[in-house]
Amino acid sequence: MPLEAGLLEILACPACHAPLDDRTTAETPELVCTGADCRLAYPVRDGIPVLLVDEARRPA
Ligand SMILES: [Zn+2]
Repeated sequence: MPLEAGLLEILACPACHAPLDDRTTAETPELVCTGADCRLAYPVRDGIPVLLVDEARRPA
């Protein structure tokens, strides 16, 4: 399910408030923080971004 148009533009990382980049792949829908020192990847469940630091995947 694609994200609603325009939704990505109003979303920001809850940890550092940087914009998010849609890095969704066929296997893994997720939004990745563009903050240079953050880079947390947030999951998207049923088309709804889960912008919780506790749910985010830490960068390797
Ligand atoms: Zn961030």
